Amino acid sequence: MNAIQEKFTRQAITHLHTWTPSLFSFRCTRDVGFRFTAGQFARLGVRKANGSIVWRGYSMVSSPFDEFLEFFSIVVPGGEFTSELSQLPVGDEILIEKQAHGFLTLDRFVDGENLWLLSTGTGVAPFLSMLQDFEIWQRFERIVLVYSVRSAAELAYKDLLDEILTREYVAEYAHKFTFVPVVTREDIAGCLGARITDLLISGELEKHVGLPMTAESSRVLLCGNPEMVEDCRMLLQGRDMQLSLTRRPGAVAVENYW
Ligand code: NAP
Repeated sequence: MNAIQEKFTRQAITHLHTWTPSLFSFRCTRDVGFRFTAGQFARLGVRKANGSIVWRGYSMVSSPFDEFLEFFSIVVPGGEFTSELSQLPVGDEILIEKQAHGFLTLDRFVDGENLWLLSTGTGVAPFLSMLQDFEIWQRFERIVLVYSVRSAAELAYKDLLDEILTREYVAEYAHKFTFVPVVTREDIAGCLGARITDLLISGELEKHVGLPMTAESSRVLLCGNPEMVEDCRMLLQGRDMQLSLTRRPGAVAVENYW
């Protein structure tokens, strides 16, 4: 089968960054024809030593306007895909399906004043892409990014967040943004110390941010640990905040990250 008929393109890894022994990011070249909306994911393929290809979905960290693609990954111990991926040196090939996927995008919402981005671990990736896109800053009055990790060393991308706020197209809106780092297994000054679910139940998250989360004014995107996503979805349903579907716009959209 020639490259035109194939469902994927061949790209090259250009940068690798290690955050912790089990967290890394990488950049690769981007095919000019690869289009995506901030929040979507790509299906990436790596070739194993035996020649077979393993495929996994990864949300883009980079913005739809960057010339490269960037991804954020955990090394799953013994995991078929991530252990291969974390070994790939710069210059190696990675396969990327031509079509982007996923519905964790701002067009899930037809309205809303305040946007809550609730993430655990590498689930922060799609929100980093959205925050680099102009639309989010224009559409919402307040934007709250909650990023929950086990230990402070896992709070990746703080420099990127700071840098985004200084970009010319964001700076005038930067006052809209609140970053809430959450570290659950260490006591860290400046970070909340309980799971997002518990912060929602106790009301501590809203109190900390100084903003109520209501069905009328708030829209919520959830990404990360599948149990967190499901538990938060149920908690929000209890506040009359429903999943947003094509036939029935709502207040919540979700993506499980693994
Ligand atoms: P994690 O267990 O997902 O924890 C990250 C944060 O989410 C922590 O603050 C954690 O709090 C919180 N959390 C966990 N479960 C929750 C729940 N049900 N409700 C609310 N908050 C919850 O840790 P991780 O280090 O990101 O990932 C752990 C394992 O997940 C990895 O070893 C890997 O096996 C798997 N994983 C796989 C992939 C993949 O792509 N295949 C990606 C990410 C993770 P606590 O400290 O209280 O638990």
